[in-house]
Amino acid sequence: MQRRFGWRNERSFFRNKCAKTGKDIIATFSPESGMTVYDRDEWWKDNWDPTLCGREYDFNKPFFTQFKELLKNVPVPSVFNARTVDCFYTQHTGDFKNGYLVMASWGGEDISYAARVQRSKDSMDVFVLMNGEMCYECVGVSKSYRLFFSCNCDGCDNSYFLYDCKGCSNCVGCVNLRNKSYYIFNIPYSREEYLAKIKELHLSSREGLSRIKKEFEELKLHSIQKFANISNSVDVTGDNISNCSSSRTMFDTSNGVKDCKYIQNGLEMNDGYDGYGVGAGSELLYESFDTGVQGFRQCFCGIVYGGMNVYYSYNCHNCKNCFGCSGLQKREYCILNKQYSKEEYETLLPKIKRHMDEMPYIDKKGRIYRYGEFFPVELSPFGYNKTVAQEYFPFTKEEIEREGYVYEGEQERNYTITKTWGDLPDTINQVGDDIMNDVIRCKHNGNCVHQCSTAFKITSAELGFYRRFDLPLPELCSNCRHYERLVQRNPMKLWHRQCQCVGTKSENGVYQNTIQHHHGVEKCSNEFETSYSPERKEIVYCEQCYQAEVA
Ligand SMILES: [Zn+2]
Ligand SMILES: [Zn+2]
Ligand SMILES: [Zn+2]
Repeated sequence: MQRRFGWRNERSFFRNKCAKTGKDIIATFSPESGMTVYDRDEWWKDNWDPTLCGREYDFNKPFFTQFKELLKNVPVPSVFNARTVDCFYTQHTGDFKNGYLVMASWGGEDISYAARVQRSKDSMDVFVLMNGEMCYECVGVSKSYRLFFSCNCDGCDNSYFLYDCKGCSNCVGCVNLRNKSYYIFNIPYSREEYLAKIKELHLSSREGLSRIKKEFEELKLHSIQKFANISNSVDVTGDNISNCSSSRTMFDTSNGVKDCKYIQNGLEMNDGYDGYGVGAGSELLYESFDTGVQGFRQCFCGIVYGGMNVYYSYNCHNCKNCFGCSGLQKREYCILNKQYSKEEYETLLPKIKRHMDEMPYIDKKGRIYRYGEFFPVELSPFGYNKTVAQEYFPFTKEEIEREGYVYEGEQERNYTITKTWGDLPDTINQVGDDIMNDVIRCKHNGNCVHQCSTAFKITSAELGFYRRFDLPLPELCSNCRHYERLVQRNPMKLWHRQCQCVGTKSENGVYQNTIQHHHGVEKCSNEFETSYSPERKEIVYCEQCYQAEVA
């Protein structure tokens, strides 16, 4: 997982030059990467031929060394986006209008500082938002509007600080509620009492919000939690799964993932193993990221859409029988971008696979990569700290270098910091338009593993949003904000545990099948795979015990 993630940059942009036109561009690849970068629109024109970079396979060098040389040579598009309008600094995003720093998202409008958004609008600072509107600081939220600082919620509105709530409106600081209104810290109030109470909470002040947050976090720790968020699925393990079957160790998968294992962020796929951001109609996918789209047998690939029998390739679309290629479209029988006849291809390929075993690639730390291994992280076009690997397996600069990976420094920035986070007013109504001219020092100031940009600016859309919803300015740069949202979700890891429900009785009585008598206490014997590690404070319940308690 870490190795695949190390090949995908979702959050970093660099000033670079289009190798075709010489134009200044903003690209996902830095000039130091050595990659040949074309402006996205130039890349998609058919007035250039990627097979001109094709080369003979060299049996005196490991395959991965040769692939890396090819990778630097073949043009790549500056960004991987599709059908975006008025989007700035967006990456791996499609069907989007008016986006700013939007990553890995599909279908949306008027959104800033977001990742993994689908069909949402008018929202800011969100991670994994589906069908959301007017959401702010939300994580794993769907079908919700005017929802702020909330996690794992569905169908909620006009609320702040909710965790695992469904169908709730006008609630603040609540956990595990179903179809409730006017609750504060899980206590019900009349509408009038509620309105009076929330005035006292000072929801528009940073100080008020941080006080509520603290109390909310306490409440969360002492609430029961469902072992996993799984719905409409049969025979699956993992977390955040809906409409899937017969699959193991899956995270964020939906819409008919069947007979798969170790998939993160996948949909519509059968018989897949080891994939991140994969599916959309794929079969027999293995060890790949951002790959699928009506593909069949795509193995060890990155950004490969459609086609069949594509191995060890990057950014190739609708190709068949290709091996170790980059930047090809609708090609067949190519190796290292060189065209072969069917017969030549079928004779050469087994020799290459054997050669990969006989002369494996050995990285700086002595790790050995034969046929069957994904691309080594040290050959990635991105520094480790600029990739998704940093988001889930964060390393300091020293740790990155100790692992033998590349640490990529920041490009020089020509701005002067004019304010620090501590200077920001407590409420938005104390903020004038001139704040947009300021460069504000991030509270973390680079002393973290969050790809901290050390300083940030406030855009006019952003200022408008804070004013409209009466929210204070943030104290962190957008990358640090993203990393703080990431940790609100459980890790993509599973532990085998037992339900912690001890003798709890719901109003409907004792849960018949699951209760055992254990040292005189009634204890549920259900076991499960959960993303809550055993050291955590939360009390973790099986599905039945959880439903009986919260329904
Ligand atoms: Zn920061
Ligand atoms: Zn930080
Ligand atoms: Zn139980």
